[in-house]
Amino acid sequence: MKAAVVHQFKQKLQIEEVEKPKLEYGEVLVKIEACGVCHTDLHAAHGDWPVKPKLPLIPGHEGVGVVVEVAPGVKSIKVGDRVGIPWLYSACGECEYCLSGQETLCPHQLNGGYSVDGGYAEYCKAPADYVARIPDNLDPVEVAPILCAGVTTYKALKVSNAKPGDWVAIYGIGGLGHIALQYAKAMGFNVVAVDISDNKAELATKLGADIAINGLKEDPVQAIHEKVGGVQAAISVAVTKKAFEQAYQSIKRGGCLVVVGLPHDELPIPIFDTVLNGITVKGSIVGTRKDMQEALNFAAQGKVRPIVEAVSLEHINEVFERMEKGQINGRIVLTMQ
Ligand code: NAD
Ligand code: ZN
Ligand code: ZN
Repeated sequence: MKAAVVHQFKQKLQIEEVEKPKLEYGEVLVKIEACGVCHTDLHAAHGDWPVKPKLPLIPGHEGVGVVVEVAPGVKSIKVGDRVGIPWLYSACGECEYCLSGQETLCPHQLNGGYSVDGGYAEYCKAPADYVARIPDNLDPVEVAPILCAGVTTYKALKVSNAKPGDWVAIYGIGGLGHIALQYAKAMGFNVVAVDISDNKAELATKLGADIAINGLKEDPVQAIHEKVGGVQAAISVAVTKKAFEQAYQSIKRGGCLVVVGLPHDELPIPIFDTVLNGITVKGSIVGTRKDMQEALNFAAQGKVRPIVEAVSLEHINEVFERMEKGQINGRIVLTMQ
């Protein structure tokens, strides 16, 4: 089968023929139709993070396709079902986190397109218990970004503890952020969107942001405090430290910063302000299988709709270049034809 493979960090991916995955007990084989390109895949290809991915690696954790084969032991999924293969590729099912519905914290988890091969390929296998069922009315290309960008930002908004009517700021209107702001609106929040170009600010306004700020032209922290008195929650899905600092400073007393973006960096938190203002700082990592169902339901009901550009697998290196330059509007989704 054809796949895009990382052989060495910071080198171009190779488009090559590799062996089709062989199923083990409990697994399904998926013929991939579409796979979204997450900034995490770029971090993986660069070896950016303290925990490195396997090499060689087939990236991709927003793969959507049709099940073409099931191994013994698979009960819930059948040939012909459309499923998605997410970042949470599998978990142990037995640890304290798995037992309490927090499987995204399982220390024994495997991650699609990172510790195991992912969806930048014609076929991908996964344990049936961890694939996401795709609602019938959704197009594979349009739904792919929900598998990571969608569920991650939906979960981040949930754990922020903001309530309908509260103001929420989204820092970074990229693949994650443009979907985050749609969930935020659908969940009844008022939204301030911050990015660093006019294009992204225009996109945010088009998608329903109440206030959109180009952080290069206007100080977002000052604007947020002047216009809305600070936000109850700020979600940072940008890839620069500055955005996290500004997100922190945008919060009002009693509010919450949810840390989602993953630049390999430190976030200095001022102790005095955090204590006196009763600020919460939370990390949030993708979402559980239940979060995934909920996130997909929003999409099935038309409340959230990723902006996608379909590009064939062969063009992955150009896609990564555009991503590094911040030149993507919405999400690019690879197609396998
Ligand atoms: P992306 O490249 O599509 O979007 C990043 C956006 O941030 C761009 O629009 C860019 O212009 C914007 N940005 C850059 N500097 C900014 C600044 N100073 N202020 C405001 N905006 C700024 O990336 P993505 O796919 O949306 O991923 C974003 C990050 O989230 C990556 O680090 C990725 O690894 C991480 N991620 C985390 C999780 C999780 O579970 N925590 C899940 C998926 C992705
Ligand atoms: Zn992702
Ligand atoms: Zn576990």
